[in-house]
Amino acid sequence: MEIDLEAERKEILNRYKLLMKACKRRLEKGDKEIIRKAFEVAVEAHKEMRRKSGEPYIYHPIAVAQICAEEIGLGTTGIVCALLHDTVEDTDLTLEDISGLFGDKVSQIINGLTKISGVIDNTSSIQAENFRKVLLTMSEDIRVILIKLADRLHNMRTLEHMKRDKQMKIASETLFLYAPLAHRLGLNTIKTELEDLGLKYTDTEGYNEIAAKLKETEPERQRFIEKFIEPLKEILTEQGFKFKMFGRPKSIFSIFNKVKTKGVLFEEIYDLFAIRIVIDTPQELEKSDCWKVYSIITDFYHPSPDRLRDWISTPKSNGYESLHTTVMGPQGKWVEVQIRTVRMDDLAENGYAAHWKYKAHAADKESKLESWLLRIREMLENPDPNALEFIDDFKLNLFSDELFAFTPKGDMKTLPIHSTALDFAFEIHTQVGEHCIGAKVNHKLVPLSYALKSGDQVEILTSNKQTPKEDWLNYVITAKAKSKIKNSLKEQRKKIAEDGREILERKFYKLKMDFTLQNVNDFCNYLKLPSSQELFYRAAVGNVDLKEIKAWIRFKETPGKPQHKKEAPKLEQLVTNARGSTNMLVIGDDMQKLDYKLSPCCNPIPGDDVFGFITVSEGIKIHRVNCPNAIKLLSNYAYRVVKAKWMNDQMISFLAGIKIIGTDEIGLVNNITKIISNENNVNMRSINFDTDGGMFEGTIMIYVHDTKHLSHLVENLKKVKGVTKIERIDEKH
Ligand code: MN
Repeated sequence: MEIDLEAERKEILNRYKLLMKACKRRLEKGDKEIIRKAFEVAVEAHKEMRRKSGEPYIYHPIAVAQICAEEIGLGTTGIVCALLHDTVEDTDLTLEDISGLFGDKVSQIINGLTKISGVIDNTSSIQAENFRKVLLTMSEDIRVILIKLADRLHNMRTLEHMKRDKQMKIASETLFLYAPLAHRLGLNTIKTELEDLGLKYTDTEGYNEIAAKLKETEPERQRFIEKFIEPLKEILTEQGFKFKMFGRPKSIFSIFNKVKTKGVLFEEIYDLFAIRIVIDTPQELEKSDCWKVYSIITDFYHPSPDRLRDWISTPKSNGYESLHTTVMGPQGKWVEVQIRTVRMDDLAENGYAAHWKYKAHAADKESKLESWLLRIREMLENPDPNALEFIDDFKLNLFSDELFAFTPKGDMKTLPIHSTALDFAFEIHTQVGEHCIGAKVNHKLVPLSYALKSGDQVEILTSNKQTPKEDWLNYVITAKAKSKIKNSLKEQRKKIAEDGREILERKFYKLKMDFTLQNVNDFCNYLKLPSSQELFYRAAVGNVDLKEIKAWIRFKETPGKPQHKKEAPKLEQLVTNARGSTNMLVIGDDMQKLDYKLSPCCNPIPGDDVFGFITVSEGIKIHRVNCPNAIKLLSNYAYRVVKAKWMNDQMISFLAGIKIIGTDEIGLVNNITKIISNENNVNMRSINFDTDGGMFEGTIMIYVHDTKHLSHLVENLKKVKGVTKIERIDEKH
């Protein structure tokens, strides 16, 4: 088939002109140029593409922009985004291109649209609940949702060109997901059109039947309406009202539903239409004028007392305002009458988009639009709990405490809010969690403790050498991850304890002490340890020595002697540890490792009950709880007291930071993480990498046992190709 490209080009420009006409009212200085630029970029990007109908693809974004301008009332930013909405997904243009050409706001919105369509449109069937989650959390800007709606509306209008199975999928999605959304947003016209089109493709027969009957009965209905309106017109004009009065047919979809759910025949439905009276009146007179009109009508036609609805005094939660009554019309027929003002009618048909028009001081239209968008957002986030009719539509409050993130393949995982990359890893699989060394979120390397945001795409980096570490418990919030980590730590201790058992047995043997269960338990009690496993563990990590065993044997042989042994062996321990550090305390509510000094007045040693006291000039000082000064300090300066407790020294490792500088070689990051994960007992707390113009800079915070340990690691990292410099840094927080 030959295509007349010249004619097409003209048609494209034609449609563009129509678009400009639709948004003319609201254009500010410079807006025209931006829209023109977006139009040209979109034309160029889509130039080789055609729709299923054979038409140039660009017709679609132009039509979507037209809907946004005309039927939703979006401003320049929205129109620009609508024109570009399919470029990043379907063409060579990237988000970076968009942000370079149109700035961050536009690229943020396009990003949301691209992500949403990646999830929704490419999933075979998405559940309503997930759909809402995706929409709400991926739409940092509410315009994303509105443009998505416009996109769907145009796709529904052109659905005839799709294959049957696609038609079914798209149409039922529209009925179940998009139409309720439009309703929630108060976009009544769009909602009705979506519903009718949805029905047309899901139940073509049912749709056609009702459409035909409506057409057939149209003249008769028209006569009835005229007869009904006639006398009212006269009185209202007499009373000085400026108004429009007309019959409003119900949508095919709503009639179809009535036939189906209530089992009534088409002929029996009395409210195939409603009479609408729209009065033009200033805002301060709205309520009283509507009620005046109500009074006039009910003087003439008798109202049904149980069918009065006053949504003027209490608007519906989607903003709907109107006064509804049902009256007995000619020929003994009930007729619904809707009374409202021009403003209310505009809002009911076009949603909150129409709001900006009715705000006083319309000085800055774009900022009015912003505040409108904010209002929609609030509405979506906080549905009115009293508005029962919307409960089924948007249960947003149910998942405000959840986030969801995606695997690289696009599988969605729902997690509690504030979940971290490590939680995500455990959510995928226990094995993945246990071997996790870091993650890439949206292609950027992040530490295990990175707090996820909804919509993040998370790739977990693993290493076989990695095992769960004690402080991982601080990085996770899900019960699942916590219990898995605890289990694994327990397992680790158990294994170590098994070795310790043999070590201890040999030591007992040396001192000619029988290694019996009773002796082991006795020794345990002497050391005040909770279990023999704990004792074995200590033996394995070198914390039980011959001197201690000897002391216990002596104690056994001279019972009744007062015990001081709790301090004696520990003092030794302190000396050995003091070489490496004094960092055996954790301080504060979150049990941080902070610098401190041991107070000379009571000389606390590991195992003592202690507290920290913030001094004016010497930082935190550690006192024993039974220190003679303690009571004075506690009672006079309670606010300067911090919690402190001794840690099992074997679990202690120190946080150290290193900075890596180099050239941005392929695989550099991977090689670095590999080396760190291959190193025994190194736990990465955070990693951050930045590249800029071929240069590479990385900061890694890791837990190491001592400086020897750290320099060993640094030596290995220096060998990585591309690394030019490594230096130690302090933790930045
Ligand atoms: Mn589209």
